[in-house]
Amino acid sequence: MERQVRVRFAPSPTGPLHIGGVRTALYNYLFARQHGGVMILRIEDTDSTRFVPGAEDYINEALAWLGIGIDEGVREGGNYGPYKQSERRDIYRKYVKQLLDNDKAYIAFDTPEELEAKRQEIKNFQYDASTRMMMRNSLSMPADEVKRLLDAGTKHVVRFKIEPDKQVVVNDLIRGTVTVNSSTLDDKVLYKSADDLPTYHLANIVDDHLMEVSHVIRGEEWLPSAPLHVLLYQALGWTDTMPQFVHLPLLLKPDGKGKLSKRDGDRLGFPVFPLEWHDPKSGEVSSGYRERGYLPQAVVNFLALLGWNPGDEREMFTMQELINEFSFEHCSKKGAKFDFEKGKWFNHEYIMNMPDDSLAQVFKPVLARHADAQAFTDDYIARAVGLVKGRVNFIEELWDQAAFFFRAPLTYAEKDVRKRWKPETPAIMRELIQVLRGIDDFTSKNSEEIVLGWIKEHDYHMGNVMNAFRLTVVGECKGPHMFDITELLGCDETVARIERGLQNIQPIDA
Ligand code: GLU
Repeated sequence: MERQVRVRFAPSPTGPLHIGGVRTALYNYLFARQHGGVMILRIEDTDSTRFVPGAEDYINEALAWLGIGIDEGVREGGNYGPYKQSERRDIYRKYVKQLLDNDKAYIAFDTPEELEAKRQEIKNFQYDASTRMMMRNSLSMPADEVKRLLDAGTKHVVRFKIEPDKQVVVNDLIRGTVTVNSSTLDDKVLYKSADDLPTYHLANIVDDHLMEVSHVIRGEEWLPSAPLHVLLYQALGWTDTMPQFVHLPLLLKPDGKGKLSKRDGDRLGFPVFPLEWHDPKSGEVSSGYRERGYLPQAVVNFLALLGWNPGDEREMFTMQELINEFSFEHCSKKGAKFDFEKGKWFNHEYIMNMPDDSLAQVFKPVLARHADAQAFTDDYIARAVGLVKGRVNFIEELWDQAAFFFRAPLTYAEKDVRKRWKPETPAIMRELIQVLRGIDDFTSKNSEEIVLGWIKEHDYHMGNVMNAFRLTVVGECKGPHMFDITELLGCDETVARIERGLQNIQPIDA
């Protein structure tokens, strides 16, 4: 029988979610939805020393912003909870005991200092079958001594007893079969008495088993842990329900070699976090895609293609199309270069393709920072952004391009004045005012015909007249089609701006 697809995204709340983590969450989500499965969000907070306040909320907010839906989790609930590892202590204790009782694990008392001393003494020291009898643990010490120490409440850990020289096979849907000799692995710490919590490895396996996870989809950085995880499934007697492993390719630096880091983002000027992050300790602020003016759909599309491709040249995908088309066969083994210029391109495309009224809603908060947004109707704002949206990569930039729709120019570009505002210009502009006032139907096409007809009739210099006109209305000689602008501003506002220009612009001698 086919197993129900149940996948989990299992971040540790140790800081803001990195963009690579977002991609992992996205692939889990796409796979779950494609198979009518379940997407779990599990908070892996067993390492209390690395806990950062606010990180869990940040994860929830980032996934919600991107439209990565969660079916079971701390907020969503579900039948397999609690979904936060620090609330599952009792569950883990039982499996620690099972491993100890079955001689699959042992108790170790070595202090950090003793371990350090051994590392100094033995080159490339590894706690394993070849060294464990030299250490202070329940295998090397008499049972009554172990009992005495435990009764006295001595701090200890539980280590996994790895049998040496066994072939450990990891089956991975992207990487195929990976075989590792168990002698290369160390007797990993599975539990620490100090905080009565398991370490990542044990908690992760116990939860994947109990939550009936069918596929473990995670970043390549976890591949080295996979053989240990396979051995843990075996030691716990869960081989039959072991999930299918899928290790996703790394996200690489845009330039040079190695893994993408926050420093690359700072150096090259792009965010590596989905949302802006305010570090609660240092107060440092790290920029986020949302605050930089990216649309969530663009970020999703961009991330989806970092490590996966549809097998052809297509690049634009909605979330639903990604759900339909995603497959591990088309995921690469090789790392994916983080091409942030491509990210900008996606944002540009999404802004261009967004209906004007939706774009207006996204733009409104930006508008409100610069002008009285209430003074304009939704329809006006939509038409204004519609005229300039092809010129921007980010929502913020819409203001730079469309500001003149919301306030008359305050200054006039000097180089354009020098080039276009001739001694005869004021008289012609006065004439233009009369022409404009005489137009009944102020739509773009009609006013264009009339104004251009008037210029030709008088044999005026087309470039100079039109650019002087534009200078008074826009403040500089650029922007969308002139008569699209005047249609939206209307005759009164257009004329008022020419009049202001006549008062404020003086010819500059070349
Ligand atoms: N807690 C691990 C992390 O922070 C989870 C790794 C896994 O998915 O197994 O990424």
